[in-house]
Amino acid sequence: MTFSRLLSAARACAIALAFAAGPGASQAQELLSGATYDPAAPTVASVLGYDSGEQITRSADVRRYFEALRAWAPDRMVIGEQARTHEGRPVFWAAVGSPANIARLDQIKANSRALADPRQTSAARAQALIADTPVIVWLMYSVHGNEISPADASMAAARHLLASRDPAVQAWLANTVVVFVPTQNPDGRERFLNSFSSGFGVEANPDPLSAERDEPWPSGRYNHDLFDLNRDWFIQTQPETRGNAASVREWRPQVLVDAHEMGTDETFFFPPEAQPLNPWIADATLASRELIGRNTARRFDEAGVPYFNRQVYDAFYPGYGDGWPGYLGAVSMTYEQGSARGLAARRSSGEVLTYRETVRNHLIASLSTIEASSVNHDRLLKNFYDYNADGLTGRGAYVLSRPTWDPAQADRLAGLLVRSGVEVGRANAAFTACGKTYQAGDYVVNLSQPQRRMAEVLLAKEVAVPAPFLAEQERRRARGLGDEIYDVTAWSLPLIFNTPADRCASAPGVAVTAASDAMIAPAAVRNADAAYGWLVAPGVPGARLMTAALRQGLSMRAMDKPFTHDDRRWPSGTMIITRAGNPADTPRLLSQWAATTGAEVVGMDQSWVSDGPSFGSSDAVSLRAPRIALAWDEPTDPTAAGATRYVIEREFGYPVTVVRTANLSSADLSRFQVLILPNGGNYKASLGAGGVTALRDWVDRGGTLIGLGAATRLLTDPASEMLASRRENAVIDGEAAEAAGDKPRVEGALIESETDYLKLVGESERGPDSVAGVLARAQIDPEHWLSAGVAPGVNVLVQGSDIYTPLKRGEGTNVARFGSTADLLASGQLWAENRRQLAFKPAVMASDHGRGQIIAFVQDPTFRGYMDGLKVILMNALFRGPAHSSPTWTQ
Ligand SMILES: [Zn+2]
Repeated sequence: MTFSRLLSAARACAIALAFAAGPGASQAQELLSGATYDPAAPTVASVLGYDSGEQITRSADVRRYFEALRAWAPDRMVIGEQARTHEGRPVFWAAVGSPANIARLDQIKANSRALADPRQTSAARAQALIADTPVIVWLMYSVHGNEISPADASMAAARHLLASRDPAVQAWLANTVVVFVPTQNPDGRERFLNSFSSGFGVEANPDPLSAERDEPWPSGRYNHDLFDLNRDWFIQTQPETRGNAASVREWRPQVLVDAHEMGTDETFFFPPEAQPLNPWIADATLASRELIGRNTARRFDEAGVPYFNRQVYDAFYPGYGDGWPGYLGAVSMTYEQGSARGLAARRSSGEVLTYRETVRNHLIASLSTIEASSVNHDRLLKNFYDYNADGLTGRGAYVLSRPTWDPAQADRLAGLLVRSGVEVGRANAAFTACGKTYQAGDYVVNLSQPQRRMAEVLLAKEVAVPAPFLAEQERRRARGLGDEIYDVTAWSLPLIFNTPADRCASAPGVAVTAASDAMIAPAAVRNADAAYGWLVAPGVPGARLMTAALRQGLSMRAMDKPFTHDDRRWPSGTMIITRAGNPADTPRLLSQWAATTGAEVVGMDQSWVSDGPSFGSSDAVSLRAPRIALAWDEPTDPTAAGATRYVIEREFGYPVTVVRTANLSSADLSRFQVLILPNGGNYKASLGAGGVTALRDWVDRGGTLIGLGAATRLLTDPASEMLASRRENAVIDGEAAEAAGDKPRVEGALIESETDYLKLVGESERGPDSVAGVLARAQIDPEHWLSAGVAPGVNVLVQGSDIYTPLKRGEGTNVARFGSTADLLASGQLWAENRRQLAFKPAVMASDHGRGQIIAFVQDPTFRGYMDGLKVILMNALFRGPAHSSPTWTQ
């Protein structure tokens, strides 16, 4: 059957359904033609009142249906919870297997973990375990809340396993334990369903413009904090991700699927993936992905369902749901179905895709995966054991030093590695390795461990994009085509945590203590009952303590310059809390906060400073608790607005007021001391000229305006009259590209070669080429208060094409600037022209403006919540910006 005939048949079916699917119409037609089920088993219709695929099921109703299945088959299903969302919804799992397997689930999990540690499990013992242990097939659905059909498919798949009369299913249940995570992102799914159902009329409307299918900002894709959970696996900022990761570490599945949806015009995707493939993925993993993919292809062919693979969806970034579990040895895969984004969708070809079809396709893919896992039981378990055994063949170690400017960065990094299953040791004594000396407390990651590939992929400074793929991208760029890189090309954790790391060829012999998954090492106040007051070291823990103290109403100051007190040198940014002017129980509060934040607090019996400014000088600025507003809604990028709020509120414990951008032009902003414009779209258009003037006036009267990422475009727009920097055009042969202008005719030109031709037709492209995401080094201007307590060099995640001119003296300060062409790239794939043009350009700019401050972060410092090295600069902007302003209103 040709594709077009197939699709028109699907359309005919869709139209028939649309008429048949009113309330009460219970002509149950199974999603799988020919399937027969035990009539006693609960159906979606018997529990929820509609057939599978007729409605988009609410998260709580998905749970209700799984509970009904469990009640019917208590010996074959177990349900548990792995997380609670920020909105209080459970994220649950449901394991399905034979009665014998369900009765020994703990043993099966233990067997799987034993196969994952060949140090404890000999090859002979593994052989015996493999014969006795089912394959754990982990099926996760709808991580993006507006990718709706997977969760409905999970209900149909669970029913199929429990109630199908197909004898093959009994064999599957003997050979596998299938664990469903039906709704990975219930908060996002509810957000989608609320906008869908409130826009719904009397029947499904397939028009892409209909309100039911046109989601408002921020869309249902993201979780409550507006994080993309499918980028969060190694950084684990969100409870949903932490639950997923903890479950995978506990169960150690051999096969794992993350079931998504994609654009309405698309068909269905399953692996093999597109290039580039991450070189740390094992060959056997890739082979098994293909093996399972071939089985799904066979089942799709039988059902007449079109699909594609090897295009669009690559396997490079390790933060995906099909990435991270793969480095723990699972055959992890993404499945993508073209979304109806509602109950029916008109494709651009005119054909109508029904929700029912999308649910059916994910059902087929889930079952084909279970089938292939059952058939290949021995191979999959053997590969899993071999994967972990291969980890032991690794040599050498990473050594992570606790950086002097913020040692807690290394503690956080170590905790995070442990949460990714990596074994990390903390040195019990000083030691040498790689010809260098390290301190007690530094961390060692021995590369002879089962999780070696996870350690390498997260810690390696560079994970190389394969050369043939890069060559193709250069060819595309020369022709003015976009590159095919799906996500960032750099994520090295030591770089984003700004922690020195060395990869040593042999592992140091120092005795270590296993690091825990704690992200914060509690600290104790030294000289807690000091007579005069206390010094608080800057850095991430110090900033946390500062927010706690300010919220408590404590009076504190921060030094703009370094100084020496009691023979110790303290960096700029050090905070001072005196007994005078603070409550009597301040020592108790400080002890409590040192324990919860890990901040270093040292008591002082007197205030004498032997070098540098005294505490009563003008270099000691008073910190006050600012009221912070954060632009929200259009045109902000939801993940950027969400991550900025997350960093300030959840990581630093300080509340912000989120204000819809549309209200900024008319609102009375004088009650806020700080306004943040997160990375986003066209602020100039959203605010309008009146809104821009209102913001500038507010700054002139003493406000601190902070632009992140693309919001810098507004601050540097000449019409805004804010920052003197300007966004640059692409440099072409040393000249800035000229726009054609408004002349009716231009000078004639001879084109002598194809290279010249490509250059000429490319010149109308005004900006530099877009960069998918690299880590670039920036140097800090240590004289500026924004850099107080910040390392001399920081790594910035560079994305997109925005490059700005440096501020000149008198116009403001380039607080951080990118390195030279030779040293700016820390990690990732950066085009040569961008590298040349980015050198020495500003990364962070600041300028006094009237009585206030304007601060621009050219690249978003809160990207995915994980650029830890930049967070102190952001906190300085929020809390020290107001301290360096002199507002006309009372604070
Ligand atoms: Zn998705």
